Amino acid sequence: MSTRILVVEDNAFSREMLCDWLELQGYAVESASTLAEAFTTIEKSLPDAVLLDVQLGSADGLTLAAWLRLDQGKNHIPVIAVTAHAMVTEQDRIMHSGCNACISKPIDFKLLAEQLKRWLTVASVMKRDSRSQLSIGDADLPKAMARRQL
Ligand code: MN
Repeated sequence: MSTRILVVEDNAFSREMLCDWLELQGYAVESASTLAEAFTTIEKSLPDAVLLDVQLGSADGLTLAAWLRLDQGKNHIPVIAVTAHAMVTEQDRIMHSGCNACISKPIDFKLLAEQLKRWLTVASVMKRDSRSQLSIGDADLPKAMARRQL
């Protein structure tokens, strides 16, 4: 079964570009253009990772990351944020919302491929490791990863 990635992006051109690229990488892809659509898609079937545009029209995409982190059944899903803002304060806000990585637009696809692989691996290791008291959105995760060389 292929790894399923949910792309949440309100811009049709960016959404299609991301979906096409992910499919070429061998991922199964779903997409949503609004928060409501993303919530519905996730409730129907959990993706293995989410690519999240931070600015969804007038809505804050980070609402979705926070929602995933607060839900026991969903807080293992890696979230990679995509933002047009390269400002440090915005990057801080993104990382504090529970996102695992933050990629700036225009997207560096090599970096995206690396981050996606990295966080999918971490998620699968954490899923196998039942002793783990951490969830993927925890602030302590980088330290725990370094200890276990995830
Ligand atoms: Mn947008």
